[in-house]
Amino acid sequence: MNLLKNFLLFCSTNSWMKNSLPKYRFVQKAVKRFMPGEDVESALVEANKYSANNITTVLTCLGENISELKEGENVRNHYLEVLEKISSQRIPSEISIKLTQLGFDMNEETTLQNVRALCLKAKEKNNFVWIDIESSPYVTRTVNFYKAIHGEFENVGLCLQAYLYRTKDDLENLLSISPSIRLVKGAYKESSDVAFPNKSDVDKNFVLLSEMLLKVRMDSFGTIPNSVQRIGIGTHDETIHEYIKMFAKKNNIPNDAFEFQMLYGIKNNVQMKLANEGYKVRALISYGSYWFPWYMRRLAERPANVWFVVKSMIS
Ligand SMILES: Cc1cc2nc3c(=O)[nH]c(=O)nc-3n(C[C@H](O)[C@H](O)[C@H](O)COP(=O)(O)OP(=O)(O)OC[C@H]3O[C@@H](n4cnc5c(N)ncnc54)[C@H](O)[C@@H]3O)c2cc1C
Repeated sequence: MNLLKNFLLFCSTNSWMKNSLPKYRFVQKAVKRFMPGEDVESALVEANKYSANNITTVLTCLGENISELKEGENVRNHYLEVLEKISSQRIPSEISIKLTQLGFDMNEETTLQNVRALCLKAKEKNNFVWIDIESSPYVTRTVNFYKAIHGEFENVGLCLQAYLYRTKDDLENLLSISPSIRLVKGAYKESSDVAFPNKSDVDKNFVLLSEMLLKVRMDSFGTIPNSVQRIGIGTHDETIHEYIKMFAKKNNIPNDAFEFQMLYGIKNNVQMKLANEGYKVRALISYGSYWFPWYMRRLAERPANVWFVVKSMIS
C-alpha cells in the first residue's frame, strides 16, 4: 500500500503527468468525486447546499507554484471577486489560499501585498482567510509569513501538519500571538528526517496537538498570556472525532469552541452526523482547472480511491 501511496505522491510532482493526464476523459470523470466543477459557481452551488444542512464551507481555487507574478495577481483578483460573491449571496463560506499560488516562490513582499489585499477585503466583508500549509521546505517561511500578516489582521488562520516533528514547537511558539489554527495530518511526500514515517505516530501527534489547542482554549478566558482564536480539527478520522468530542465534554469545552473541518466528497455522512449532533462543521470545497497534483494527493490519502479511476476508465 505504501508503494502505491509513494507512487501517487510521485505523480503529484511529475510535470509530464501534470500536463498529460488531465486531458483524459476518465481522469476528468474520476476527479468529480472530489470537486463539484472547475469554476467558482459550481463551488458556490455546493456551498449553498451544505449551508441548508448547517454545514459551513471554505472555498479554495486549486493551483500552486506559479511561475509568473502576474498569475499571482490574477489569483488575488479572483479571490477578491469570490469574497464579493460570498457576501452578496450571503453564503457562510470563507476562503483558503496557497502562498505559492500568490507568488511565494518569487517574491515574498508581493505575496504579502496580495494576502494583505485579501485579508482587508475579507475584513470589510466580515469574512476570514485561511492559509494552507505546503511541503516542508515552505514551513518556516509560511509560519513567519503568518506571524507577519497576523500582526496586521486578526481574520487570518494557518494550517499546521501533525506529521511534522517540528509542529509541536511551531504551535507552542504561535500560541503567544493568539493564532487561528487548522490542524491536519499532512498531505505531501516527506522524508523521515522531518516527518513521522508511521501513521500511528502521526495520529498520536494529531491528538496531542488538538489537546494543546483545546486546553489553551479552555484557559484563554483566564489570565494566561497564550490563547487561540479559532480551532479547526481538519480530519476525517472518526476515532479522532470521538476522542475530541469526549475530551471537550470532559473539560467543559463548549461545542462551538472548535470546528471539525473536512473535504468535499469525503465522508459526507460523517459531516452530516456531526452537524446533526450540534458540532460546528466546515467543508473545504476545491475548484479550478489546475487540479492534477491536488487530486493525486487525494488518491494517495486513500489508495483504494484508485478503484474509482479504474471504474471511470472502464465505463
Ligand atoms: C479542511 C482541510 C484542509 C486541509 N488543508 C491541508 C493543507 O493546507 N496542507 C496539507 O498538507 N494538507 C491539508 N489537508 C489534507 C490533510 O493533510 C490530509 O491529507 C487529509 O485530511 C487526510 O487525512 P485524515 O486526517 O482525514 O486522516 P486519514 O487517517 O488519512 O483518514 C481517516 C479516514 O478518512 C478517510 N479518508 C481520508 N482521506 C480520504 C480520501 N482522500 N478519500 C477517501 N477517504 C479518505 C480514510 O479512508 C480514513 O477512513 C487538509 C484537509 C482538510 C480536511
